[in-house]
Amino acid sequence: MAETSLAPSADRFFRALGPRTQVILCQLPLSFVVFAVAIAAYFAWPGVFGNGVFLMSLGMHALLFLACVLLPWEKFGPYVPLFIPMFDFIAIWLTRIGVPPGVPGLGVLAIFPVIWVSASSLPARSSLFLSFCGPLLISLPPLFSRLPGVSVADVTSALLLPLMMLTVSIAIRFASVNLRLQQRVLEATDREMRALFEESKEREKLLDTILETVDVGIVAVNANGDRLLTNVRQSQLEAAASPEGLPGALAVSRIEEQLTLFSQDGKSPLAPDKRPVYRATQGESFADYLVWFGEGPQRRAISTAARSLRNDDGEFNGAVVVFNDVTGLVEAMAAKDDFLSNVTHELRTPLNSVIGNLDLVLDGEHGLPPLAAQRLEVAQRNTERLLTLVSDLLLSASASLPVHPRRTDLSGLVDFCVGSAQEHAAAAKVSLLADVPVPLWAQVDPLRLGQVLDNLLSNAIKYSPDGGTVRVTARAEAEQVYLRVDDTGMGMTSADAAQVFNRFFRSREVLQSGIPGVGLGLSITKAIVDLHHGSITCTSRPGEGSSFTVVLPAEDPSPAY
Ligand code: ADP
Repeated sequence: MAETSLAPSADRFFRALGPRTQVILCQLPLSFVVFAVAIAAYFAWPGVFGNGVFLMSLGMHALLFLACVLLPWEKFGPYVPLFIPMFDFIAIWLTRIGVPPGVPGLGVLAIFPVIWVSASSLPARSSLFLSFCGPLLISLPPLFSRLPGVSVADVTSALLLPLMMLTVSIAIRFASVNLRLQQRVLEATDREMRALFEESKEREKLLDTILETVDVGIVAVNANGDRLLTNVRQSQLEAAASPEGLPGALAVSRIEEQLTLFSQDGKSPLAPDKRPVYRATQGESFADYLVWFGEGPQRRAISTAARSLRNDDGEFNGAVVVFNDVTGLVEAMAAKDDFLSNVTHELRTPLNSVIGNLDLVLDGEHGLPPLAAQRLEVAQRNTERLLTLVSDLLLSASASLPVHPRRTDLSGLVDFCVGSAQEHAAAAKVSLLADVPVPLWAQVDPLRLGQVLDNLLSNAIKYSPDGGTVRVTARAEAEQVYLRVDDTGMGMTSADAAQVFNRFFRSREVLQSGIPGVGLGLSITKAIVDLHHGSITCTSRPGEGSSFTVVLPAEDPSPAY
């Protein structure tokens, strides 16, 4: 029975058929041709039906076909059906000797059983043997009929058919082996693909579960801005930002436009080009970008982050945007700032009164005993320190510092601040130097920038406990002014330098050394510089000193302060 067929798909189709159908299909071509030969013989050589051998051959062909149809092939082993092609050789042999000598070419019928045997799973040697001997049986009778005067030509023509059939069988064998190899490769590829498919289905399920379990909204977009994925949490957040619901037939790329979003201050509507998904589709990557979803008591503060996806050539391929609801955190921070601002405000009034009264007592002609005057001076110094601390707390807690920039000569401001710090520097054995071009114009609030300079200078002196040099330099470059304060003091690690602008941060060394401070000065300094649309950076090395660089706009950037 044929195990392979002309193509793997046909082979698969053939295998899917039952054993009986397979046997019938293998026998059908020969039975059909013999039937056609019988019909042709009826008209061409009617006398042939008087020949018993011919009739016997037809009967045998018919019986073989009936056997194919009736026998329960599924109950037999795989080689049993091969008896049919063997009997076919005998039936063809009978047909050939039954027809009149003038009827040509019936030996060629042997090709049908040869194909069957060659394409079967029979071992190669057996199938080649049958493919040669079967046709030999068919081509021998004419040879015998010429006995004893057999010529070389007779022997040659008798061997021609078996040799041709053997060649056909070899060709079929080669083709079968080739097909089988191909099929094996295809099956292996198929198995691999199925395994990969199963794996990717598992991964997809896992990813879906993660996406729906996490408490953050997630949106994935392609390079055109079309949404590829929106998880349930994100749909909830978007529902909160579209109280009337999103229009039904809305293009996925336009969902964000329809949302009611506000910028970080919670008041100004967020422009379309500032919206997180839009920014992400422009290839921007960002983190901690705070926006407000919706309005009224239901509104949510959302911290967003985006990461671009790029293909192997580095081209923008899409982006993933993450939305994290931080309303609780933002409200807690605001409540803390409110509390701080109220408490410090309330503390300032009695403190001012204490300082005023101490000033009056100490400055007046009250003839205080020296010891009492000394004690009162200590109380005065500490109260002033307390007032500075309370003022710093108030400043750091207030949502916005009033800043009024105007055209200011920084060289004068630097001179003034350096002059004020001289006494402190001398006491700490620090030499204070300034190298600033005159004039140096910048668009700043002189009062607030004085605060910045005072803070940087007092830190530079305070954190140079063994004395040293503090240098203030400045230069104007490309519409910007660079102001730098360098010291040769205790310095700090780069990890500490990255945190110095955080509220209440103090380095471990400073805490251990007992140098006074609360960690608010630099956060206020940074807030002031930010309000000038400038920037401040710190570089430092432990034991070698620190550098603080402030960059400010030289011209009016015309912002809304
Ligand atoms: P404070 O000086 O009151 O602690 P700041 O906000 O001014 O608060 O400074 C925060 C921290 O940064 C300091 O405690 C110190 O650890 C570090 N720091 C600031 N300036 C310097 C400096 N010039 N050299 C070394 N460390 C510094």
